[in-house]
Amino acid sequence: MSFDTLGLSAEILRAVSEQGYNKPTPIQLKAIPPILKGKDVMAGAQTGTGKTAGFTLPMLQRLINNLQPKGQRPIRALVLTPTRELAAQVGDSIAIYGQHLPIRSTIVFGGVKINPQIEKIRRGIDILVATPGRLLDHVGQRTVDLSHVEILVLDEADRMLDMGFIHDIRKILALLPEKGRRQNLLFSATFSSEIKALADRLLNRPELIEVARRNSTAEKIDQVVHPVDKSRKRELLSHMIGSQNWSKVLVFTRTKHGANRLAQQLEKDGLSAAAIHGNKSQGARTRALANFKTGDLRILVATDIAARGLDIEQLPHVVNFELPHVPEDYVHRIGRTGRAGREGEAISLVCVDEHKLLADIERLLKREIPSVVLEGYEPDPRIKPEPIQNGRNGRQHSKVNNQSRKGGKNSTSASSTGKTWQESASSNRTHHNSNKPKRNSGRRNPGNSQTTGQSRRSRPTNKPETAALFNDA
Ligand code: AMP
Repeated sequence: MSFDTLGLSAEILRAVSEQGYNKPTPIQLKAIPPILKGKDVMAGAQTGTGKTAGFTLPMLQRLINNLQPKGQRPIRALVLTPTRELAAQVGDSIAIYGQHLPIRSTIVFGGVKINPQIEKIRRGIDILVATPGRLLDHVGQRTVDLSHVEILVLDEADRMLDMGFIHDIRKILALLPEKGRRQNLLFSATFSSEIKALADRLLNRPELIEVARRNSTAEKIDQVVHPVDKSRKRELLSHMIGSQNWSKVLVFTRTKHGANRLAQQLEKDGLSAAAIHGNKSQGARTRALANFKTGDLRILVATDIAARGLDIEQLPHVVNFELPHVPEDYVHRIGRTGRAGREGEAISLVCVDEHKLLADIERLLKREIPSVVLEGYEPDPRIKPEPIQNGRNGRQHSKVNNQSRKGGKNSTSASSTGKTWQESASSNRTHHNSNKPKRNSGRRNPGNSQTTGQSRRSRPTNKPETAALFNDA
């Protein structure tokens, strides 16, 4: 099926074909017709499925079907996203797909000056893309009027709730025309009971749409675990990047501090690297991302929140330098690679402290991730696991976000059993590898199970990036 049959205008079709898209993706096929009919939609789709065009194309169509008289430009569509990067991406997509239309849009998010945003809104826009915190700043300054919004899109709604934006969303909903007088579109990768409760409040007899999760079907991402001692992860990462000549690698750490430190260490190893996370200025984040996309920067080290929704074309390698506390974040992380039908590789460097996190991820995936021990980087079987330290004062991780991030409770004690690699290895699937994997003893790590009771190594300043730091206030 082609785009032509969906009922989109010639100008929109032209913009789509200029992007080189000749076939709608499954989410676009399912979402565009009901949105064009004015229905509310609740769609289960992750980043990478083409969901942005799935709501943007019909949204543009509906806006031009009913153009406002000259001189009047109330905000007619509002797209809320959890992060600045996603807002920027969605805003760019709207500009691209709407380039041949008399439609104006702008993006507002925190971390940058508010006055240029105010100026753009004052001149009149049809579509506003916003993160909740900064939008409420504008509301506070009376620089936006949301009372004419005809279409509301909540993009990555699950992430917005994870990040504690529910109160902001409620405040924003109260400023819109009532539910029956606007079209509501909710996109979410997962459907928790919180999302369902939000959907009940927000949506009016919605059409339910779901497309296969990227990681369950059409598997294009090769996943592998390399067991390695925590203290040798950086060395192994540099070795893999250098020896295999990877040119573009996205690396995930759990904390902002860890991201900074790793980027600095990689730079010292002669590899160009930069970190992005919520404590970096917006300018630094935009610059790092732009350099990474063009290939001027080889390694981007990111925290989960900063990387959420990033759309980077031709990203062959994603490395989990540290496993996430929340198993769903693993799926989001590896979804950065293997996009738009390309092949991708997701590599996880897993130390003995992280066994429980790995087990949680495998339970979510309903499959085991092949484990390959790399020659020269075999984990020391005497090292006992230690609790993963995250808090400001070296607290053990308990919950990533006290608002609604449920996954935290699953990940408190990856290491609380005090078992070594060997003792806690549960499956017969570990390979040994120099270049190619070769099967061996069937344990995550061969060797004896003596323990040395090593001292704690985690830094007390390691702090998970939470919503608070990303609130755009
Ligand atoms: P999204 O899920 O919206 O982040 O989109 C993921 C990627 O797919 C983006 O790079 C889009 O430009 C691309 N894309 C969107 N629609 C199509 C399509 N119909 N054909 C090919 N690529 C597409």
